[in-house]
Amino acid sequence: MVYKKFSLSPALAIGAFGLFAATSVFAQDVEIGTWAGFRKAAVSFTFDDGAPSHVSDAGPLFDKYGYKATFNLVVNWNPDWSGFGNMAKNGHEIASHSNTHPQNMSGEEASSKSSIASKIQQKYGVITLAYPNCNVPNAQEVLKNYIVGRICNSGNSQVGKDGPSNWAQVPAIMTGPNGSNDFKGPMGSVVQSNGWVSFLTHGFSGKNNGNATYSPTDIGLIEDALKYAQQNDKDIWVAPMGHVAMYIKERKSSKAEASSSGGSITVKLTHSIADNISKYDYPLSLRVKSDMAKPTVKQGDATLESKVDGGYIYFDAVPNGGDIVISGDGGSTPPTESSSSAGPTSAASSSSDQGQKVSSSSHHHGSHHGSSSSSNGTNPVASSSSQNPNPVAGSSSSSPEQFAALEARAFDANPASAYVDAAGYITVINAQGQNITVFNSLGHVVRTTKGIGCLQKVYSGAKGVYIVRIGNKAKTVSIK
Ligand SMILES: [Zn+2]
Repeated sequence: MVYKKFSLSPALAIGAFGLFAATSVFAQDVEIGTWAGFRKAAVSFTFDDGAPSHVSDAGPLFDKYGYKATFNLVVNWNPDWSGFGNMAKNGHEIASHSNTHPQNMSGEEASSKSSIASKIQQKYGVITLAYPNCNVPNAQEVLKNYIVGRICNSGNSQVGKDGPSNWAQVPAIMTGPNGSNDFKGPMGSVVQSNGWVSFLTHGFSGKNNGNATYSPTDIGLIEDALKYAQQNDKDIWVAPMGHVAMYIKERKSSKAEASSSGGSITVKLTHSIADNISKYDYPLSLRVKSDMAKPTVKQGDATLESKVDGGYIYFDAVPNGGDIVISGDGGSTPPTESSSSAGPTSAASSSSDQGQKVSSSSHHHGSHHGSSSSSNGTNPVASSSSQNPNPVAGSSSSSPEQFAALEARAFDANPASAYVDAAGYITVINAQGQNITVFNSLGHVVRTTKGIGCLQKVYSGAKGVYIVRIGNKAKTVSIK
């Protein structure tokens, strides 16, 4: 607070700022994170050929860690539509890998997309394509239907924070014996470069791979990679290829403007990208400089998850989704923000250019803020800093609220509850039909599922504190 620094009495400060606030609108600093949750890098895992093991092994593995991947299906190879459909519901990306897996798939760009879209509903649609046999078809036709065409690499496949020079040729590292078994090296490397790296996997050694017989990968290495990502959650954003591509395109084109007036801050987040492929409504991570202690962030009628850290309010919002209004906590802080004291001399709010300059060096302190896609792939979930072990609850389709408020609610009133059993499993009781989400101490979603019975083991993992959210209630448990 400015008034604290200058030792003014709160009453005087409120009076002085109140006068300003009543009559003036101030520009406010706002930034768009280079990657979701102001992390340092993005990592995507893609799986080709629609193998049975993708449904039976890869899906559950990613769900165990709360991460989402991209699965590229060959329409005429009769993939397990219902299995992949359930994975789509759970937030994974289902994408195209052609109809017939020809040497060159020219001519199958639009039809494979519409076939998959007719069988599997997805919030963001079928927006990426992986080329069969790694041969690039008609790039123009690709980019009429998809925001990404993915190629294959074995060596360095890193992409800078602004994306590839050609979206019809987005690289990915082939994994397994015909490619590379090194996941952590490239992941660590993009953390250094603030870039994006993707992996391309077929089947898994010893599993039921159907037609995905090429270069089978040890699934244990993928689990190691996900563990590594989880351990580095403050730096690494794991998300499907199409989601990362939307984020980059939106970040580069969006303009964020914030102004403060009368104790609240209004942020306008807009872009004018228009194509027939995506609405580009994937949430972007923003932060606004503010002294508010317990802000409420709303976009339209929706309350967004938010986190206060290091003088910033962090939240994720959908571009072109309406004004974002941040209001204070009503009384415990004066109705003003730090930049108000700078008044008209404060810089105009940042444009997307400034957002794009967001780098690791300028965000070290705020980088604990994290987010991850919720189970339905809508708003990413904000997470807590390491200083605050209690994560902010997820903002899935039900009413998102501050974790403190959730925890304050009595669990007693609801028969649903959670505990850790003798074998170390987080176990939920009486949660039939309710959405269950388990967050680790970094606030990362490690499990999302639906309540199915009166007693249900939902998660087993490393020692530590977890938050279990059932419906709109939550409980802290600890695996010892
Ligand atoms: Zn293939």
